[in-house]
Amino acid sequence: MQVAASDFGPGARTGTPVVVSFDEPVSAGLRDAKANARSTHYTVGELRQDPDGTVWLECSCGTTLSNGPTWTLDEHVRLHRAEAKYLALSQAAPPGIPRLIDLAWQQPGRPTA
Ligand SMILES: [Zn+2]
Repeated sequence: MQVAASDFGPGARTGTPVVVSFDEPVSAGLRDAKANARSTHYTVGELRQDPDGTVWLECSCGTTLSNGPTWTLDEHVRLHRAEAKYLALSQAAPPGIPRLIDLAWQQPGRPTA
């Protein structure tokens, strides 16, 4: 898929078409990291409910996923999966790639996650 940057953004102001390709292959490392995150974080067992109304289930990694006073079980599951995917991709990302979040745990002298 190709999108002409002149359709939006800075190119639209200058009228200079910039074609960006989204068909560039993803490295095997990143693809494997994403697949590994998906395969190691899936819900297991039955949905359970405590007398206080807490509903919960287990993730295959051992984390208990539950609802809470301000979040739903579904929100916790989605956040957990997103965090797992983010951590896996971050660890596999090429050195020097610009980051949105500074990973202090990747700096020299820090223990790895
Ligand atoms: Zn998990």
